[in-house]
Amino acid sequence: MTVVCLDLEGVLVPEIWIAFAEKTGLEELKRTTREEPDYHKLMNYRMDILRREGLGLKDIQDTISQIRPLEGAKDFLDELRGMCQVIILSDTFEEFAKPLMRQLGWPTIFSNSLLVDDDGMLKDIVMRAEDGKRRAIEALSSIGFRTFAAGDSYNDLSMIRKADAGCLFRAPKNILEENPDLRIFDDYPSFLDYIKENLR
Ligand SMILES: [Mg+2]
Repeated sequence: MTVVCLDLEGVLVPEIWIAFAEKTGLEELKRTTREEPDYHKLMNYRMDILRREGLGLKDIQDTISQIRPLEGAKDFLDELRGMCQVIILSDTFEEFAKPLMRQLGWPTIFSNSLLVDDDGMLKDIVMRAEDGKRRAIEALSSIGFRTFAAGDSYNDLSMIRKADAGCLFRAPKNILEENPDLRIFDDYPSFLDYIKENLR
């Protein structure tokens, strides 16, 4: 039995931080895991900017409430969930993910969480586990599941490599060039077909 593990941002929903950067006009917040492989470094960079600008969790959540899943994502996910078990493995935070999960029909998601101070400012991130995506794949394998993983960023590569099968979806050029052996798909129908081929 195969469990399909999918990244969230860039695969099913837009990049949350890019949407937030556009709303606030803070171009510096457009840096994502697509450019910066070190997630702690990236989050410290983002939290420094938020502190400097006096922006808290509420401001980010207001933006997220206006984000919609990528076009076709809900139908793709519904069809996939009718065929196999699906888990979204995301490095985002449960405080951010909830409004998006509602729109996707409450799929299962394993993510991280945030520490927020009394003023509502982001204080720190609480990672469930280091390299949590890869470790989720290892844990699923250890209880007898075959795994398929897909994502678009640096932080997805270790889970894709560890899974029994996997691919990239709408990954940027640099990731593609550095991983020429991985298949990539840019639309949901061909992505779904490839996953189907790999279910057994
Ligand atoms: Mg992503």
